[in-house]
Amino acid sequence: MNEEELKKRLTPEQYHILREKGTEAAFTGKHIEPGSDGMYHCAVCDAPLFSADAKFESGTGWPSFDQALAGAVKEVSDDSYGMHRTEIVCTNCGSHLGHVFDDGPTETGKRYCTNSVCFG
Ligand SMILES: [Zn+2]
Repeated sequence: MNEEELKKRLTPEQYHILREKGTEAAFTGKHIEPGSDGMYHCAVCDAPLFSADAKFESGTGWPSFDQALAGAVKEVSDDSYGMHRTEIVCTNCGSHLGHVFDDGPTETGKRYCTNSVCFG
C-alpha cells in the first residue's frame, strides 16, 4: 500500500499521527473498543498490537497498555523536542503508535501511551 492510497483511506488526523508521527490532543480520542478477537489492531495494516487485557486507565487522556503483544511493536529511540523518549511503531508496517515509558503502575513497569486513532 502506498502513501497516496493511505491518505485516501485514513482520516487526515490518522494520517498525520500514524505516518508523520503526530500526537492527538489528550482526552480527545474517541472511545475505542477492541476487535472481536479482544485485540486492538493497527489502523494501517490491521496487525493485532495490544490485548484488551493489557489496557489500563492511566489518567493521561491517551489509551494506555502495560504490555504489547510479543513482537507486534518495535521500540525506536526518539530524541525529538529535546527529550529522550522511546517511540513505538507497528512492527509490520512501521506506523507511529505513540511512546513507551518506564513508569507503568502494574508489574510490567511499562506504560505504552498510544493514540486512539492508531487503532482501526
Ligand atoms: Zn501496522
